Amino acid sequence: ILKTNSLIKEYTSGEQRLRVLDEVSIEVPEGATAAIVGPSGSGKTTLLGLCAGLDQATGGDVLLVGQELGSLSEDQRAALRAESVGFIFQNFQLMPALTALENVMVPEELRGVSGKETIARAEKLLERVGLAKRVNHYPNQLSGGEQQRVAIARAFMHKPKILFADEPTGNLDEEASALVEDMLFELNQESSIALVVVTHDLDLAAKADYVFRLKNGQLVEQKFHGEVSS
Ligand code: ATP
Repeated sequence: ILKTNSLIKEYTSGEQRLRVLDEVSIEVPEGATAAIVGPSGSGKTTLLGLCAGLDQATGGDVLLVGQELGSLSEDQRAALRAESVGFIFQNFQLMPALTALENVMVPEELRGVSGKETIARAEKLLERVGLAKRVNHYPNQLSGGEQQRVAIARAFMHKPKILFADEPTGNLDEEASALVEDMLFELNQESSIALVVVTHDLDLAAKADYVFRLKNGQLVEQKFHGEVSS
C-alpha cells in the first residue's frame, strides 16, 4: 500500500544544504501496521509527510495506494488524500466550534456526503472509541485522550486505505495513551486499514508489524514482527 524508493529530502538555507532524509526505502503492505522510530530530529515527521503526500521529495519516489506521488499534480494528490488517506496528529486538531459528532462527520461533508447514514456511522464510530456519552460535547469539554479518540473516529470515517499518525500519544498520560493505542490497533484489525505511526513510545512500536528506525535521516534498522531483517 506504501512503498518509498531511495527517498531524499533536502532543505537549503543560504549556502547550506541540509539532507534530512537520505535515500530511505520502506515498504508497508496492505492492512499492515508500521512504526517509525528514532531520535528527535532524525527525520520521522519529514518521512511521514512525504509518504502521505503532504510534502514533496527532493529525490526518490513514493508509491501510495498504487499511485506515484511525484507524477501527480497538487490537486490529484489532494484528491488521493481525501479518498484514501486518514491523518491523526499529536495535537488532535479538532474544530473547537463543532461537537464531537460534527467533528467526526467533517471528512464526509468535505466529500459532499451527508445524511442520516453518515450521522449513524459517526455515532457508531464514537461509540466504538468509547465516547457514546460524549457525542454532543465540544472539544474543550473533553480530556486530551477523549479528544484524540474523537480524532481517531474522524480518521476512520471515510474508510481510508491507510492512516498516518504523528505521535498520536505524545500529549497523553500513560493511561490515555494505552487506550488510544489499543483503539488504533483494534480498528486496524477490524478494518484492515494500514497504519503508519511516528512514535517515541516503544510500547506502541512493539505492537506494529514493521518497525523502521531512522538516525540522521538514514534508515538504520528494519524489523518485522520483532525479527531484525536487515
Ligand atoms: P521529532 O521527534 O523531534 O519530532 P523528527 O524525527 O520528526 O523529530 P523532523 O521533524 O522530520 O524530525 O526533522 C528532521 C530535520 O529536518 C530536523 O533537523 C529539522 O530541523 C529539519 N527540518 C524540518 N523541517 C524543516 C524546514 N521546513 N526547513 C529546514 N529544516 C527543516
